[in-house]
Amino acid sequence: MKTINRYKNKLHYCYSRSHHVNFYLRNLTTTPNPKFHISMAPNAATPLSTIHAFVQLCARERALLQGKTCHAKIIIVGLDADSLTSNMLINFYAKCGPIDQARKVFDLMPERTVVSWNTILGAYTKNGRDQEALSLFVSMHREGKTPFTEFTVSSVLCACAAKCDVFECRQLHCFAVKTAMESNVFVGTALLDVYAKCGLLRDASRLFELMPERNDVTWSSMVAGFVQNQLYEEALMLFREAQVIGLEQNQFTISSVICACANLAALIEGKQVHAVLCKTGFVSNLFVSSSLIDMYSKCGSVSDAYNVFSGIEEKNVVMWNAMISGFARHALSMEAMILFEKLQQVGLCPNEFTYISVLSACSHIGLVEKGKSYFDLMVKQHNVSPNVLHYSCMVDILGRAGLIHEAHDLIEKMPYDATAAMWGSLLASCRNYGNLEMAEIAAKHLFEMEPENAGNHVLLSNVYAAKSRWGEVVRARKLLKDSEAKKERGKSWIEVKDKVHAFMVGESNHPKINEIYLKLEKLLEDLKDLGYNPETEHDLHDVEDSRKQELLRHHSEKLALTFGLMCLCPGAPIRIIKNLRICGDCHSFMKFASSITGREIIVRDTNRFHHFRQGSCSCREFW
Ligand code: ZN
Ligand code: ZN
Repeated sequence: MKTINRYKNKLHYCYSRSHHVNFYLRNLTTTPNPKFHISMAPNAATPLSTIHAFVQLCARERALLQGKTCHAKIIIVGLDADSLTSNMLINFYAKCGPIDQARKVFDLMPERTVVSWNTILGAYTKNGRDQEALSLFVSMHREGKTPFTEFTVSSVLCACAAKCDVFECRQLHCFAVKTAMESNVFVGTALLDVYAKCGLLRDASRLFELMPERNDVTWSSMVAGFVQNQLYEEALMLFREAQVIGLEQNQFTISSVICACANLAALIEGKQVHAVLCKTGFVSNLFVSSSLIDMYSKCGSVSDAYNVFSGIEEKNVVMWNAMISGFARHALSMEAMILFEKLQQVGLCPNEFTYISVLSACSHIGLVEKGKSYFDLMVKQHNVSPNVLHYSCMVDILGRAGLIHEAHDLIEKMPYDATAAMWGSLLASCRNYGNLEMAEIAAKHLFEMEPENAGNHVLLSNVYAAKSRWGEVVRARKLLKDSEAKKERGKSWIEVKDKVHAFMVGESNHPKINEIYLKLEKLLEDLKDLGYNPETEHDLHDVEDSRKQELLRHHSEKLALTFGLMCLCPGAPIRIIKNLRICGDCHSFMKFASSITGREIIVRDTNRFHHFRQGSCSCREFW
């Protein structure tokens, strides 16, 4: 009894100095101490405040066992009828994991306050049990005894966001307007988040514009919403706006913006974000730094990516993967393979993503044997079972090396259904090696799987053209015209003075377009003197319309390059991204342009990066 009292006194003392209590509890929860249970248990004489303090501490420290013992005693002394105590117990169970237990306490409560409803609703949404949260909200509404708070509405909206439930969200929006909660920053932000997650960006941005008060979460939800819906330019514009008003950026906004820069290949903007990161210290966050590596490599600056990578002392496997895939993407296959060895030397284990990168490095420079040995190593030594992407890389490696039949065998034998990407890769290999028979097989599968993709028809007709089978070329072209397949219009982007400029094929809207066409004509003449010969007849790689010469001359990447030559300082590399695969004519144009201007030209197309230097390309004509 003496010990118990001493203990109780100690708890009182400790509670007033919460760090002591934390220390105490931490020790007690890790070292089972029978005295703890006895002494902590409330009895009729224990003051209510002590019990509450204890339940709250158990919740904070996730001390399930101790809390449960306390709960038992609470029932024995009849305190469970007290709504404040019950709310604390609900919170305790929700934090420690057993939500159903929290629900039991909630269901048994004689009197439920708004705090009780909010606690259990919050617990459901935090644990991804969105349907239960929504149905509970409906019963709360039906019961009609308890008024809602902003917290209630935003919790339920979180559940809608996770379920992408627009219908419920709209109902809640009406409800928020009716109850004048719409102007509350938490409710407004939660509404905005649901609309953005459901792809209703117009609703989201209208809400954002109308919000009387916005916090950093509001801004980051809006930026993330744009990025999730691939509206990268809008995301960057909003980020700039936030910077102008001096808003403090959180790491979620920063990560979204890095992602936007990567997708737009906006290197200058990306570097500015990097500078912001260095100031805020987020750069040490492993997640942020691996997205920086990814951003730099997608922006075509693999050396900047490597600087970030080597500047980080403690690297995890995600970071190594980002760097290896960066090297692979830029056809720096040796570097990718060396890094793969180093990763193992530092004691980390390559995972499925590492293998995807290293296999694609092999495919870029046609290392068949090496690719096969990595595939073996992955299965036998690292116990990674190959997924469909690993098979896809292998099909690529074999096909690019001309082992078309072996690639086809692999597709037939693998334990997955073949993807369109695999048949597409095989068809491209058939075009390169003139294998008509296999090209027809691959194309047949592709027409079934992607009836919308015009590129496949063009690829097949190119194979016929290369074999001078003009009858089939005409037939394939007619088939394309008759089919529903639509050709995506060629579009390229280039960043000049931290603004991204977009060019469509045959662009007419850009403010400097006349100047650009004039300069392009002059450039074409100069290149022809050097031996450039526009491939207008039977372009083998063309996925846009190769029959129209004027269109070919005005392919979007040529316009973007010309604009870059006009605006970027002499000697600076020119980086362009393209929404389709670069065509054979533009590829040859870029090679000549790199030699006549002495510039490095980097083109990222849908498949890969092309680094043009001194008249040659890093892809070695293999793409
Ligand atoms: Zn082109
Ligand atoms: Zn190339």
